[in-house]
Amino acid sequence: MKKIGLVGWRGMVGSVLMARMREEKDFDLVEPFFFTTSQAGQSSPEVAGQTSVLIEAFDIAALKDMDIIITCQGSNYTNDVYYKLRRSGWNGFWIDAASALRMKDHAVITLDPVNLKLIQDSLVNGVKDFIGGNCTVSLMLMGLGGLFKANLVEWASAMTYQAASGAGAVHMRELILQMGAISSSVETLIDSPELGILDIDKAVTQCMQSEQFPLANWGFPLAGSILPWIGDAKENGQSGEEWKNEAETNKILGNVQGAISLDGLCVRIGAMRCHSQALTIKMRENVSVADIEDLILEGNPWSAIVPNEKHASLERLTPAAIAGSLTVPVGRIRKMNIGDRYLSAFTAGDQLLWGAAEPLRRMLRVVLDYLG
Ligand code: NAP
Repeated sequence: MKKIGLVGWRGMVGSVLMARMREEKDFDLVEPFFFTTSQAGQSSPEVAGQTSVLIEAFDIAALKDMDIIITCQGSNYTNDVYYKLRRSGWNGFWIDAASALRMKDHAVITLDPVNLKLIQDSLVNGVKDFIGGNCTVSLMLMGLGGLFKANLVEWASAMTYQAASGAGAVHMRELILQMGAISSSVETLIDSPELGILDIDKAVTQCMQSEQFPLANWGFPLAGSILPWIGDAKENGQSGEEWKNEAETNKILGNVQGAISLDGLCVRIGAMRCHSQALTIKMRENVSVADIEDLILEGNPWSAIVPNEKHASLERLTPAAIAGSLTVPVGRIRKMNIGDRYLSAFTAGDQLLWGAAEPLRRMLRVVLDYLG
């Protein structure tokens, strides 16, 4: 059995990966070794009734013994270890959740329901580095991949509504603390029918603007508000998150950069783990809504259509409805007033699954199939 090194397995993405690997019985196919940056020598998680000792994740000699490494540890770790490992002569497969290597020429962004052919061709051509994509990009392509596959998208603008989970576990905790602080601040007021809503609203605003409001990680109130910037700043005025949309989409699809133009605003909202995005798509042709829905469904087995109706949209097209699910629903599909080739769509998806862990888990399977 191939030796697989797991790094970052106890973080948020890593935990979801571990759960999915157990569900899909991936551990039956490999010999797992668990690495850590902080707990070397402690006991590993149990697999098939057995535990082992956690290995130091910066130990190049130990890593070099692996056939495949999957890391969910983050870009600092990748930047620190990857090049040392390759320079040491290691020729194994590197599967990574972090963004550090995504746009490198030697790496492929992996999303096999969308780009399996590209992945397989790359394997044949000797590529060894497979990196999970940005969460919103992967989710957009999981939902609307059929339209891209049919080469119908001339350009698209994705306006995102991104969950706290994309910023990591401590940020999710702080969002809940912020919600709790708001709730506590009006605990005695909320059940008093004689009080006007403006009194309650005033108390909430005071709470959110007070120095006691928990902000150590977000820096600003997210509960009861939104944060209209995600990531670093690019010279052209985009945020780092916005920049990834066009760059990563074209790379995943195997296009030359800029072949399909994509841009939009990325916004953090107070959802827990599922991202949503509203898309405006300029189609290359005037295709009927029925044909568009068929193409979306043909894109991959996880995309689903939600009819453009109020109840169905509110029931099935929300972060709350799809948390924990691999299904990526697409709804609000209609031709816009601007013209027949302008389409609106809304999609939501669990960003810890297709946005992070699942493409890595499936890449492991693709590599194992390739190695026979
Ligand atoms: P995370 O939850 O912060 O975990 C990263 C590491 O922190 C863990 O592997 C663990 O390493 C260490 N850690 C320290 N204290 C911990 C604690 N109390 N509980 C659990 N782990 C603890 O990071 P993440 O959000 O999973 O992200 C990992 C990588 O995936 C990043 O590169 C990120 O950009 C990328 N990614 C994230 C998402 C997302 O939704 N969050 C989506 C796509 C890609 P040791 O065991 O070595 O101490």
